[in-house]
Amino acid sequence: MRPVCVKCGEEMRCERNNHVVEQVGTHGDYRMTFGDRYGCATCKQQVVVGFGRPIDKYEDEQRYAALTDPYRGSEDHTVIDIRR
Ligand SMILES: [Zn+2]
Repeated sequence: MRPVCVKCGEEMRCERNNHVVEQVGTHGDYRMTFGDRYGCATCKQQVVVGFGRPIDKYEDEQRYAALTDPYRGSEDHTVIDIRR
């Protein structure tokens, strides 16, 4: 079942299958995963759901950069900064 917009009571549409969600940890550790981005056609609210297995930067820095760098600064990239 697709996510439902609480405000509008409408099922959200899938806008993107490879939305990068990157988590920056308290020790400067990085972890990323791909998810599906859904959006509400009425109010434009967006959510990311359906994550795959996370990849830690320390496991393979080159692979990590290849996966995340193309998305940086784009609308297909979200950072969770738990240092805040
Ligand atoms: Zn809505």
